[in-house]
Amino acid sequence: MAVYVPGHIAEIKPYVPGKPIEELERELGIKNSVKLASNENPLGASPAAIKAITESLSVLHRYPDGGGFFLTKKIGAMLGVDPECVVLGNGSDDVIGMLTGALLEPGDEAVMACQSFLMYEIMVKARGAFPVYVPLNADLSLDLEGMLEKINEKTRMVFITNPNNPTGAWIEKNDLDSFLAKLPENILVIMDEAYVEFVSKDRQFTTAAKEYIDSGRLVALRTFSKAYGLAGLRIGYGVMSKELALVLHRIRQPFNASIPAQAGALAALDDKDFLDKSVNLIQTELEFLYEKIGEMGLKYHRSQANFFLIELGRDAYEIFNLMLREGVIIRAMASYGFPTCIRVNAGTRPENEKFIEALKKVLK
Ligand SMILES: *Cc1c(COP(=O)(O)O)cnc(C)c1O
Repeated sequence: MAVYVPGHIAEIKPYVPGKPIEELERELGIKNSVKLASNENPLGASPAAIKAITESLSVLHRYPDGGGFFLTKKIGAMLGVDPECVVLGNGSDDVIGMLTGALLEPGDEAVMACQSFLMYEIMVKARGAFPVYVPLNADLSLDLEGMLEKINEKTRMVFITNPNNPTGAWIEKNDLDSFLAKLPENILVIMDEAYVEFVSKDRQFTTAAKEYIDSGRLVALRTFSKAYGLAGLRIGYGVMSKELALVLHRIRQPFNASIPAQAGALAALDDKDFLDKSVNLIQTELEFLYEKIGEMGLKYHRSQANFFLIELGRDAYEIFNLMLREGVIIRAMASYGFPTCIRVNAGTRPENEKFIEALKKVLK
């Protein structure tokens, strides 16, 4: 290639997403496969959201509301923060891009867990900045003390995923609060809460709340891709101080939340029944899967998200390939640093049964 590519870009390993179901079925010549690989909602999306999206298509020749007036207002009201604190994104990935794009300079450092969402690393490197990795604790929880130890004068931000992907581990409010008390005030904490809706009600809290946001030290990331079942629509948001929101608006693409995305997200927020039904299904089905996996004598990690890790004690990529041939798509976790683990999200009962039957067969 003749074009000059800066070294810090050339060294980025591209994100490898789970393959679309249609593509795999075509490649393998199979039908009716089950995808439990990308933490998507097995019930689909809220019918009310789909209706709103369909209706929004009549104005598709117009540009969207670049300020997201109604959606930021509704999100603000839901969380008890001003609408000006909410920055919409083309998925929450987009907000991660804005934060790293606006706040990092070459040579800066961003602290993150060794095993967490791969997009943090990619977007930090894209700025010529450096990810600084902290291993997980032995029980796969995030090592907050370890993160504090990595802070130095080059550190600009810390990424915390709660619940964590891919482990499903959850940080309790007390532990987060004492972490924040010890963290230097000038370091931004990016709390990725992509799966927060699935956390059991007695333990759940969100940092997308006034008490955290007003300090200006913390950004909470939320998405419609998981519990709301709108991954294909691409809509997420960050909640932050008004000052920081104004900084992101300087570099934000002006129309990064499409008309269907804003319409669908608005309707999804109103459909509380669908959200509750989705969360209840996931919680029930995870218990079912834990039981079946336990009966097979495999080790697994209980999770506060909609997925969990299973320890196979052997090369997981091989099992992933054999499972594909059974029509079940799961995630082998080598790229996340767990070469002997698979990550599986809870599906519907028939999907989960098919997964269990297939896993029994290929492990024989
Ligand atoms: C799925 C996921 C997201 C959501 O990304 P979107 O761009 O909103 O689809 C963000 N963070 C983590 C940790 C995730 O697993």
